[in-house]
Amino acid sequence: MTFTRRQTLAALGATSLVSGSLPALAKGEKARLVVIGGGFGGASAARFLKQLMPNADVTLVEANSTYVACPFSNLVIGGERTIDAQSFTHDGLKARGVTIARDMAEAVDPQRRTVNLRGGTILPYDKLVLSPGVDMRWNALEGYDEAAAEIMPHAWKAGAQTLLLRDQLRAMPDNGLVVMYVPPAPFRCPPGPYERACLIAHYLKTKKPQSKLLILDAKDSFSKMPLFKEAWAQHYPDHLEWRGASADGRVSRVDAANMTVSTDFEDIKVDVINVIPPQKAGWIADRAGVADATGWCPIHPVSFQSRLQPDIHVIGDATIANPMPKSAFSANLQAKITSIAIASMLSGEAPEPATLMNTCYSYTTPDDAVSIVGVYSNANDELSSIDGAGGLSPLDADPSVRAREAAQARDWFAAITGEAFG
Ligand code: FAD
Repeated sequence: MTFTRRQTLAALGATSLVSGSLPALAKGEKARLVVIGGGFGGASAARFLKQLMPNADVTLVEANSTYVACPFSNLVIGGERTIDAQSFTHDGLKARGVTIARDMAEAVDPQRRTVNLRGGTILPYDKLVLSPGVDMRWNALEGYDEAAAEIMPHAWKAGAQTLLLRDQLRAMPDNGLVVMYVPPAPFRCPPGPYERACLIAHYLKTKKPQSKLLILDAKDSFSKMPLFKEAWAQHYPDHLEWRGASADGRVSRVDAANMTVSTDFEDIKVDVINVIPPQKAGWIADRAGVADATGWCPIHPVSFQSRLQPDIHVIGDATIANPMPKSAFSANLQAKITSIAIASMLSGEAPEPATLMNTCYSYTTPDDAVSIVGVYSNANDELSSIDGAGGLSPLDADPSVRAREAAQARDWFAAITGEAFG
């Protein structure tokens, strides 16, 4: 993507939103831009900041040498894809002139405008972009802590957890019971649990036909619900059951030692359980002073500038950006909006509202997908859905429509990973 001057101006924002932040840099002064987190949000931000401001020093701080992508990881769990196809490095960014700091950011001092790395380096910045993703709220669900996650995987950060869940499904006897716990909103990827349910049910139907998946949900409705329910009735009537909160779907505790899950009325013995726990912004957000009492980060949506620290911008899953979902698509677009806003602010201009969007594809079988599109305004310092724009795939569609959407999903994955990591 390249930015014309007109597009850049189109993403500038009201002067009041940048008050209290760093004054514009003097002509010829080199901006020091630091990005924490090399996932979909942070890698995209590093790329676009460097592209927009080739003379700036752009440093990406990322703890891991390989990034394992969550989108499409449900296909790995279902045995339809390898983890290698999910794995990306930051070499492409390096080749574009971004400095990669392979380290953990331990602390941020918003007054001094510095980031402390675990290895001892201190990075000064003019603007900091945080895209740390999510952390699990351990023990928010009784019995579910880090140790329990090694027995009852969440697989909500891709990598070893993804493979653990896949391998448990493979090792499970036929006629086994798989349970998935889905937390209340907000959480990373609202349709993700239900796509995963489809692909686990597909695995059971084809490889362990006497087995069943039971979804225990803390909610009574969910993203793309009519489409998923249609797919479940069509493809998995004998292999998948969903219980919403008001049908005893609410889980009160799990017991990893005894492999049981308890609802209000029942203790259920399970063979495999996928617990998707409640979440919050990655811990560095708290240390940087950009997370509020909810555990998430409030932002000005025109620039994704923190409402709490003016020289820090927060993007991706860590933000409070609803109705935009916590998705890779959103994180990538927010990175573009933020990069344009930072370029503007550093040259003394103010960001203006833009139209934002999100598309999320979900596989209902390994060959079929459905999608949801949202379109949003960030005018008047708030994010809102634009009525009548966006929508869902049609119900009762010809199979060729679902197959076409699966092909579009593959193209989307190639495009977004190419943009973030290529
Ligand atoms: P992340 O991608 O998690 O990146 C955060 C990075 O920050 C990590 O690399 C981490 O190592 C690093 N980091 C954190 N703290 C520090 C620190 N202190 N120092 C250094 N580095 C740090 N989205 C879609 O759009 N489409 C989909 O189809 C889709 N499918 C999904 C399926 C599943 C099963 C799941 C779980 C998610 C899915 N998502 C999907 C959501 C998507 O993965 C996230 O929304 C996206 O990864 C968010 O990007 P991010 O940059 O906010 O966080």
